[in-house]
Amino acid sequence: MYFITKRIQQFLPALIVITLLMTPAVLMVNNWMSLPTWLTGSLNWLPYLIMVLALMLCVVFYNSREFCLFLTMLCIYILLQTLFWPETKDINKTTLYNLIGLVLALNFVLFNFMKERGLLNSHGGNKLFILSIEFLACFWLIKSKQAALASFLALGFIPEPDFINKLAGSPLLLVWMASLVLFAIHQNINPGLLRGAWGLALLGLIIGLNFTGEPIITSIYFVISSLILITAIIIHAYHLAYRDELTQLPSRRALKQQLLSLGRDYSIAMVDVDHFKKLNDTYGHDVGDDVLKMLAMQLRTVAGGGRPFRYGGEEFTLVFPNTEASEASLYLDVLREKIANKKLAIRHQGRPRKKPQNRKRRGKAKDINISISVGLAEKTDKHRSPQDVIKAADNALYKAKEGGRNRVVVAKQR
Ligand code: GH3
Ligand code: MG
Ligand code: MG
Repeated sequence: MYFITKRIQQFLPALIVITLLMTPAVLMVNNWMSLPTWLTGSLNWLPYLIMVLALMLCVVFYNSREFCLFLTMLCIYILLQTLFWPETKDINKTTLYNLIGLVLALNFVLFNFMKERGLLNSHGGNKLFILSIEFLACFWLIKSKQAALASFLALGFIPEPDFINKLAGSPLLLVWMASLVLFAIHQNINPGLLRGAWGLALLGLIIGLNFTGEPIITSIYFVISSLILITAIIIHAYHLAYRDELTQLPSRRALKQQLLSLGRDYSIAMVDVDHFKKLNDTYGHDVGDDVLKMLAMQLRTVAGGGRPFRYGGEEFTLVFPNTEASEASLYLDVLREKIANKKLAIRHQGRPRKKPQNRKRRGKAKDINISISVGLAEKTDKHRSPQDVIKAADNALYKAKEGGRNRVVVAKQR
């Protein structure tokens, strides 16, 4: 039951976005929503504006892969506006449409498997080169009227309003389905904010491209998908700045902001892993990193509304807003004991980095124990500023170490 609830919680944001994605189509197809003319006029150029702004955002935030996605989307939108919808006679619109659809899905999948290595360097140049080749190839295929290709792509498909029946079985539909399934699987195996947003944006664009008879709906979906990607890029940048990469806990910079927002009463605990250097020396730095990650997960479970931060190295800070030290020390002692009793499964020394196929050859996992020492202080007349409280907590931590480690020491109030 817990597992199911947790899964639903994980997928809830995605479900909400998917519902939002479907809404405009349902409303407009059923004619429940008729847009005012000024809005329908603006909707044609709104995607251009948003996508150009998004491209600039990607340059500022060094998002080369998202830059390529927006460039793909922009080119596709321009092709739709200039070749697909106008009364252009000398062009095979079915082939154009199919190629656009294929390039869209292909690029989302391709760039998903490429590493983020910046834009203004040779790696970024390679990505842009791939994009130019793709679009040149599309132009050549359309201009040279490749009959065999056109009939293969058009297999069972003609872009008309009753597309659903005709789309069934077409290569394009299969590619779309395969790419969405791939995103879902990849996201499940290796969850990530940006990857999730990519999957949803691709879904939105595919829905939008299906409304070949309704350019406005397509425009709306280009806007929706762009906004999903932009939001994810901004949140991702925020996480880069305010989250510690190893433990995924809020970083020291986030702690600094949290300290500014504290009210009249609060307690702050400084946490330090005992004999961590020895653990590193015995099992290696990688195991040390894994232990820090596991410890971070434990720190998140502290009761009393304590918020964990990575202070630096193997030191963490727990901030308890509106909580006196006498109360926080109870929660911290429960946490300390829980950590001391928890067996942490680590990779065995010398264990190969890659999982061997043969189970028998996989080294045994080893269980180890760690403990933490905690120094705790609260805001008093003596310790007025958060920095004073942290200093007092640090002194108490020092006493906890001196006193034999694996203990919580509360700073004297006066
Ligand atoms: P004590 O009980 O007195 O705290 O002993 P200690 O060995 O934990 O103390 P010390 O502060 O001397 O050692 C901290 C070690 O933590 C030194 C450093 O190599 C290690 N460390 C700091 N940051 C990281 C990290 O991100 N990953 C790993 N694996 N080790 C780290
Ligand atoms: Mg230390
Ligand atoms: Mg230590």
